[in-house]
Amino acid sequence: MTERWFPDEMPMPAASAETVGWWEAAADHRLVVQRCTDCGRTRHPPGPVCPRCRSSSSEWSATPGTGTVYTYTVVRQAFIPSLRDKIPYVVVVVELDGAQGARIVSNLVDVEPEEVTVGMPVEVVWEDMGPELAVPRFRPAAAVPASAGATASAGARTSAGGDGGRR
Ligand code: ZN
Repeated sequence: MTERWFPDEMPMPAASAETVGWWEAAADHRLVVQRCTDCGRTRHPPGPVCPRCRSSSSEWSATPGTGTVYTYTVVRQAFIPSLRDKIPYVVVVVELDGAQGARIVSNLVDVEPEEVTVGMPVEVVWEDMGPELAVPRFRPAAAVPASAGATASAGARTSAGGDGGRR
């Protein structure tokens, strides 16, 4: 079991036919984006059709799990009662490395809200919310030279097949 940041009473995400592959990869702690197999464009969240070329063919493409803060907001109200002792918390939009600018909405954890800045390097951390449900959160990345990040992402990039994760 991974570290926990949010309570069990959080509303659970519901996978659709288009997103189930993404959630299966997440359950294995792999952060993927959908990539068009006709024009190569990546997109997130998953959708049925490529917004660039209209192709319906796609595959799951691994990302290194790092990125930068594109924008964020600090939530100071407990919109869900079980979050009362979790506020303030940070909702973040992360621009993912190795994903052609694809962005993901998540939470930034292990950080004081006052310390968050746009452009801050972040890395994924997985929160197991159940036996088959893992949710990606992000935390400030360990300090590494900016040039090292590009090398790491190239080495970590592998093709994610569509056969994984099924039980
Ligand atoms: Zn396309």
